[in-house]
Amino acid sequence: MADEPIINLHSDSHFMGEALRQAERAYEAEEVPVGAVVVRDGRIIARAFNQVELLKDATAHAEMLALTQAEEMAGDWRLTDCTLYVTKEPCPMCAGAIVHVRLARVVFGASDAKAGAAGSVLNLLRFPTLNHRCDITAGVREPECRMLLQNFFAEQRQGGSKAGAAKERGQKKKG
Ligand SMILES: [Zn+2]
Repeated sequence: MADEPIINLHSDSHFMGEALRQAERAYEAEEVPVGAVVVRDGRIIARAFNQVELLKDATAHAEMLALTQAEEMAGDWRLTDCTLYVTKEPCPMCAGAIVHVRLARVVFGASDAKAGAAGSVLNLLRFPTLNHRCDITAGVREPECRMLLQNFFAEQRQGGSKAGAAKERGQKKKG
């Protein structure tokens, strides 16, 4: 124990912390709080948070935006030596993209029992007939990742956020 550094800058926990910072930015922007970073050779080459509402684009999940950034940084669509850290288990769309860019490894925080495509509902990251499989590490800093999502949805239900209030106003107008 005494030999272990106090802060391991290359640990999964550290990089998940960076993904959590992105998720907090999403929360502040009233987006579903999911954040992602892509790491290559111990360095972050892409960071993104969910921007579905901001960009009015249902495909603008944190993972999709981070992968596109990472491809630009790498100058290649192949990300075979990269690891993606994401606060929530990837959905089928993102898992599909992860396989397409041939990521080496995916590390996620909170599982998604309804839509998780990295083992919860299905596992596209290790699908037998696809031509690429990723290593998966689940549950890194899971309580923090899950709390952020739970708090967000609780706030939405209460109509406490600006987005929630705006949505309610919109519904009232329609009604
Ligand atoms: Zn997704």
